[in-house]
Amino acid sequence: MRVPSPGLSEVSRAVAVFDETIRDLATQMIEIMYQSPGCVGLAANQVGRVESLFVLDVSRHKKTTSHHGLLVVVNPTIVNREGQLTMREGCMSVPDLTGDVTRAESLTLIGCDLAGKSLEIESSGFEARAIQHEVDHLGGYLFIDRVSGSSKLHSRKRYL
Ligand SMILES: [Zn+2]
Repeated sequence: MRVPSPGLSEVSRAVAVFDETIRDLATQMIEIMYQSPGCVGLAANQVGRVESLFVLDVSRHKKTTSHHGLLVVVNPTIVNREGQLTMREGCMSVPDLTGDVTRAESLTLIGCDLAGKSLEIESSGFEARAIQHEVDHLGGYLFIDRVSGSSKLHSRKRYL
């Protein structure tokens, strides 16, 4: 799903039932993520769904320093943020733009796995940035909502 699309600005709904509907959705999203060149994460509203769920895997990205491999997080919430860093960012749903976005350098994320079991993840660097990007999606925000002024937006010069 690409801008402009109303689903991208909607707030996702918390998942209460951990059944095969949510597992199937996660499976589909993981497939799309791995099949899309350069894609390191995907939020459910990017595929037209309202569930609060994202999938992420930054392990093969060149900016990655540390990572947790494949992350599948239901009802994610960032509970602690530390530091600040501005970096260029892009998004599958906003194919023609990149932007300089200031985000926390490290964070603590809580949520559930697909079985409904609580999880807590400490993340930093590029993975932490990607997590903030996906949690933003689920809150109805795109990275272009986070850049301070049009001078920080750039038309994409390179497509993967
Ligand atoms: Zn995105």
